[in-house]
Amino acid sequence: MWPLALIVFALGASMGSFLNVVIYRIPAGLSILWPPSRCPKCYSRLKVTENVPIFSWLWLRGRCGHCRSAISIRYPVVELITALLFLIVFWKFGITISTLGYWFFFSWLLALSMIDLDTMTLPNPLTQSGLILGLFFQIFTTLDTNFQINNLVNHLIIGIIGAVVGLWLFDLISIFGSIAFGQTVMGGGDAKLAAMIGAWLGWKYLLLACFLACALGAFIGGAAIALSLLDRRQPMPFGPFLAIGASLTVIWGNQILSTYFNLFFPHF
Ligand SMILES: [Zn+2]
Repeated sequence: MWPLALIVFALGASMGSFLNVVIYRIPAGLSILWPPSRCPKCYSRLKVTENVPIFSWLWLRGRCGHCRSAISIRYPVVELITALLFLIVFWKFGITISTLGYWFFFSWLLALSMIDLDTMTLPNPLTQSGLILGLFFQIFTTLDTNFQINNLVNHLIIGIIGAVVGLWLFDLISIFGSIAFGQTVMGGGDAKLAAMIGAWLGWKYLLLACFLACALGAFIGGAAIALSLLDRRQPMPFGPFLAIGASLTVIWGNQILSTYFNLFFPHF
């Protein structure tokens, strides 16, 4: 099992390395394919040995090998988080199409969260491509269970309804929120992210993910206001909370729902 875990970790760290490029370049409107990785300060191209995820940063002690300017610790941190997410998904789903799919889902969620934290936006190219991938995931994930054409169609419908519910839910929240608070409470990007999550998880688990996101957002937002780290009127990016809610739902959604129903509807 260990060699396999190491391969998964390396795959995840490499994906994290690519996500760093996505997170940096998509909001800036730059190509993610060209030019290859380079130092953000002196633009010198990274050598192969300087481009090893996590380890190069540690080896060079957080500095560019060429101009010695500091490289942010968030690069290796994003690589490490992606590697750990890959391991968690693999631990949960084993060698299946689901594992491959959720690796992409978690990667998209992480990139969107970081971009939302940086820029308070969720770029359309990412949420749209994520939604399309989610619908493909619904189709291909039927290969893990019993592949029949009506099963495939059911999965696809679940994904489409999930996406539509995501859009509607957040449009409703924005309308009621702006009436209640007299200001915009949700960006349009949040609705598109919810639609993407709905495509991957279906409407039932989308609702759970949104509930977890709101609970977490209220708790952390409330704590930040109480500690005066955040002004009450200051907008807070909601994308990261949705991403965390969706991730928790993928890993523990079934347990959370069955615990909930056993507690409140034991005879249901
Ligand atoms: Zn440099």
